Amino acid sequence: MYFLMTNDVEHHSIPLNREDQSIPDQIFNEGLPRLLDVLSKYDISSTFYFTGMFAEQNPESMELVKDHGHEIGCHGYDHSPTRAFDILSLDEQILELEKAKSAIEPVAGKITSFRAPALRINNDTVLALEKTGFTTDSSVASQRFDGPMTFGSKKKLKWLTAPRKPYYMSYESPMHPGDSRLLEIPISAAILPLIGTTMRISPTITKILRKFLFYESSKTDKPVVFLFHPNECLDVNGEIEVTRRASGTLEYIFADVLRHKLKLRNLGDPSIKLLDEVLRSAKEYGFEFINAKEYEKNIDKMQQMTHCQ
Ligand SMILES: [Zn+2]
Repeated sequence: MYFLMTNDVEHHSIPLNREDQSIPDQIFNEGLPRLLDVLSKYDISSTFYFTGMFAEQNPESMELVKDHGHEIGCHGYDHSPTRAFDILSLDEQILELEKAKSAIEPVAGKITSFRAPALRINNDTVLALEKTGFTTDSSVASQRFDGPMTFGSKKKLKWLTAPRKPYYMSYESPMHPGDSRLLEIPISAAILPLIGTTMRISPTITKILRKFLFYESSKTDKPVVFLFHPNECLDVNGEIEVTRRASGTLEYIFADVLRHKLKLRNLGDPSIKLLDEVLRSAKEYGFEFINAKEYEKNIDKMQQMTHCQ
């Protein structure tokens, strides 16, 4: 049974609900030390998906993560909704990926793992990733249902039919198994996603979700994939303003106001305590912690073994 702890590193400020240029320094000085500590405590090797912009502004963060024995992956170049992968063409996606790679690889070495900003991908993403040398993706949250709570949520309805276990993606649709060489490692969900936000909003729901996902993993070998952000470990300082991003009234109420209020819960130190509990329970349940690259290697080995038999 495998547990993949994954972390998305980006400029987003949760209190401000928008990108903020001071975030990389805060993550380097405050967020990462807290997060790396708890990962070391349980001897966990995890994957950190960096945006190219973050890597350019704060390469020291990648060095710190690398020195602690974690894998570095790519979280696109920037995290702007206007550059989301699901609205870009094949060539535009390739350009974004190449730009991100040239920002990340000088420090991280060759990277092969990808997660799309805001988990937004389209039918061209599989080919774009293959052409730029990526071999795993973790942008699909099988059976996660967001309703009107996130941006790009109409396209994410396709998550409801995506396979639960890791699969090689189809060139026609990233939500279907097919003959590409790109391994999708879906983010764990059962209607609600197993992510830092859910954990902070409702530790009780997360406990129920966790129990189900751990049990499922023990029966089916499906790895548990947890998504977290180092910006969740930052303390909230000063005034909080809501940045309006949605244009429609209903979308504004759900995606900006309500969601924003909920997302402020348990930021900073409390998030680390909650994370500690999730990791401890996984360890006690018998999970082995592994990063995306190591997981992919294991799948390859298992396939070679079945071919030899
Ligand atoms: Zn992100």
